[in-house]
Amino acid sequence: MIPIVDLKAQYRSIKQEVDDAISEVLESSQFILGPKVEAFEADFAGYCDTRYAFGINSGTSALHLALLAAGVGPGDEVITVSYTFVATVAAILYTGATPIFVDIDPNTCNIDVAKIEAAITPKTKVIMPVHLYGTCADMDPIFEIAQRHGVMVIEDAAQAHGAEYKGRRAGSMGELSCFSFYPGKNLGAYGEAGAIVTNNEKYVDIIRQLRDQGQSAKYLHERVGYNYRMEGIQGAVLGVKLKHLDDWTEARRQHAKFYQTQLADSGVRLLAERTDHKPVYHVFPLFTPERDQLREHLHANGISTGIHYPIPVHLQTGFAELGYREGDLPETERVCRDVMSIPMYPELTEEQLTHITSSVQQFCAQSTAAYR
Ligand SMILES: *Cc1c(COP(=O)(O)O)cnc(C)c1O
Repeated sequence: MIPIVDLKAQYRSIKQEVDDAISEVLESSQFILGPKVEAFEADFAGYCDTRYAFGINSGTSALHLALLAAGVGPGDEVITVSYTFVATVAAILYTGATPIFVDIDPNTCNIDVAKIEAAITPKTKVIMPVHLYGTCADMDPIFEIAQRHGVMVIEDAAQAHGAEYKGRRAGSMGELSCFSFYPGKNLGAYGEAGAIVTNNEKYVDIIRQLRDQGQSAKYLHERVGYNYRMEGIQGAVLGVKLKHLDDWTEARRQHAKFYQTQLADSGVRLLAERTDHKPVYHVFPLFTPERDQLREHLHANGISTGIHYPIPVHLQTGFAELGYREGDLPETERVCRDVMSIPMYPELTEEQLTHITSSVQQFCAQSTAAYR
């Protein structure tokens, strides 16, 4: 069976380096924050082209903390998408603010910038685009709208490590930006981890304090904070893996190119590519009204698939209190019915890639349904 991601293959390729780095943490017993986390923070800030990076204990905590640092709280509205991993929206709710959903552009699956302005109210404090699947949202129009209305932009870059938009790195554009290092992400820890990056010095103290119980110095608590610190072992693993990230991203790009060439006119819809974007292909989605049948066909041929995402956040029962109904976000809902993802990870072999595309082609050849 070809898995949808293969974390074991990647570990085998860097085992010695990772084991050595973890051993150093065990020997030093600097289990929380400490030198490995600090070194990773410096490297990751450099990687994102930002002045600062802060190691956090998850991407979800990073989003929560970034919103708090931006001053978001009860009575505020945060504009984002419903077509995302649920954490984007949960983090907004943790602050007491209200998430306002804007539909997606089905050609990119990112926020439809033409629909943002209509969602702005006097309560809007932040626009939080998600760089879904590793392709940046269309940031220029977002900043234009944000500036005109005096609202802040915070990037959910959890799927976009190293992605670029018109030569700018994901994470370097927003006032604050958040990353996840969940193991399956393009840069994944060996446990839970995340980061906030920013260019603005004014957030340094508040983020360091909020992630560490409000401490400004040992046992001096200036505010009520959180336990959102990154672990030393995760800093060590991430420091090793960051050095390989560009190679891994390049492999993902090659695989994506192969998929795009082979599946271009096959009968499944692929995402539109823009020449001024450099996506990092966290997930490789395709769209077909026969999604469930295609998944069955691929599984029968030894190919795992996923659905990112089957139910949009606004229709999740846990989020019913937000008051959205079916039909409110038609493009989001349509894409949720059609979308599926095929395996995408750097270690995929040529043989596996060919087997995947020929299995999709085989299905399409005997199918009568065309994509919309
Ligand atoms: C993974 C992810 C998160 C949450 O990150 P965790 O590290 O799992 O807490 C948030 N937003 C998006 C878009 C994600 O993909």
